[in-house]
Amino acid sequence: MSQREPEIHDVVGVGFGPSNLSLAIALQECRTSGPDQEVSALFLERQPSFGWHRNMLLPSATMQISFLKDLVTFRNPTSSFSFVAFLHASGRLPRFVNNQDFFPTREEFHQYLEWAQARVADRVEYGSEVRSIRLVPGGAPEADRLRLDVAGSARRAGRVVEARNVVVSTGLVPNMPEGTERDERVWHSSEFLEKYRRTDPPKLRRVAVVGAGQSAAEITRFLYDELPHAEVYSVIPSYGYSVADDTPFANQVFDPGAVDDYYFGTEQTREAFWRYHRNTNYSVVDDEVIRDLYRRAYDDEVRGVERLRFLNLTRVTGVKRVGAETRVSLQVGPDAEVRELDCDALVCATGYRGMEPTGLLGDLDRHCLRDGAGRYRIERDYRVVTDPELTCGIYLQGGTEHSHGLTSSLLSNIAVRSGEIAGSIVARRAGRNAGRPVAVPVEVGGDLH
Ligand SMILES: Cc1cc2nc3c(=O)[nH]c(=O)nc-3n(C[C@H](O)[C@H](O)[C@H](O)COP(=O)(O)OP(=O)(O)OC[C@H]3O[C@@H](n4cnc5c(N)ncnc54)[C@H](O)[C@@H]3O)c2cc1C
Repeated sequence: MSQREPEIHDVVGVGFGPSNLSLAIALQECRTSGPDQEVSALFLERQPSFGWHRNMLLPSATMQISFLKDLVTFRNPTSSFSFVAFLHASGRLPRFVNNQDFFPTREEFHQYLEWAQARVADRVEYGSEVRSIRLVPGGAPEADRLRLDVAGSARRAGRVVEARNVVVSTGLVPNMPEGTERDERVWHSSEFLEKYRRTDPPKLRRVAVVGAGQSAAEITRFLYDELPHAEVYSVIPSYGYSVADDTPFANQVFDPGAVDDYYFGTEQTREAFWRYHRNTNYSVVDDEVIRDLYRRAYDDEVRGVERLRFLNLTRVTGVKRVGAETRVSLQVGPDAEVRELDCDALVCATGYRGMEPTGLLGDLDRHCLRDGAGRYRIERDYRVVTDPELTCGIYLQGGTEHSHGLTSSLLSNIAVRSGEIAGSIVARRAGRNAGRPVAVPVEVGGDLH
């Protein structure tokens, strides 16, 4: 295809993590419902191959959701893309069941995702980073297509593609402590294993982990176990790790129905979601990991060893390089005592910011409408509300915490959410083909069959 005639798809997905993988499957399963349901789709992913938080695939780290919240089951329990179907195909189903555990390791869930992506790989291009999304130059006043500029890789030249619908799912953005730059000795948790493997572990005599969330606790445990000769410091802004509430009533905030409660709720009910249920996901740690760490510290104390040190009520105020070491400035305890800690590696498990598509949308952003607080206005079907002349669809998978609630950046609801997006795209296309005004369904069925 020449540069002047870009290929055109009904849907182009930007990013191919679990959210858009789930969408690719939902669109594929639409096809079985009839030819009018068939849409052409292409997914562009900047990584050279599929990878889901690869740098945090620590041994024994487990999923924080049930395996039944996989890519498909809540939308279509009979799908051949379920986690159970994967176990069956791998010959492990009986042994998995014998474990009597809802929470597989992240390593096994990653295998599942790789297995699923291999079955839709003809619609995915890896090593393809989308640089911008814009209006087709000189296009009709009714903008029904968008143009995506795709950077090339060593194997593929850069190019442009066009789409009637774009689904942006580029994931969370790593957050570093203010004024802290990453380097070979200062890492964010999102790059942890890659950076750790580049070190010479016996040379890591003192390491520090900043943060009080799940990743911080898992990395602290990993470093303590992997580096038996090293001191491991855990720098915690609170008094200690807080437990993630995954008890049954609290877990209902992740149910598909909770999205409607949030979306159609008042400001007051939305605020209550966050106030009461933040501790289901944010800056909290699984009970088992907390107990593991406490046990290790206690057993050391019994043996007269002090290797695992928790600096609670402590904040990082600065980081600088001193020779081969990293010097971390700290404000410690209730009196904000100033201390310095020299270490061989500093891991900032300081979380993420929500997905932010503004950079990708560039000039297109001015056609996207915002609410009083400056956030995108989003339809119930995850489509950004735009000027009426923009008839193409810009959907977001992620970055919709303000409109759709807690599950926006999580796996819990991806099966249903991607079904809703697929349903919306198919319904809007059917309306266009029939010459009807394009109707945006408020509620689209979870099960596409
Ligand atoms: C360590 C860790 C563990 C987690 N565990 C859980 C869990 O157990 N349960 C849960 O519910 N949630 C969990 N989460 C939350 C996490 O957000 C989801 O698991 C999941 O990654 C969301 O999928 P996604 O596809 O929306 O985003 P991502 O998985 O982040 O995928 C986004 C993809 O977009 C690609 N991309 C970005 N920009 C571009 C571009 N311009 N062009 C092309 N490609 C691009 C990225 O390379 C990436 O592959 C975890 C998060 C972390 C960090």
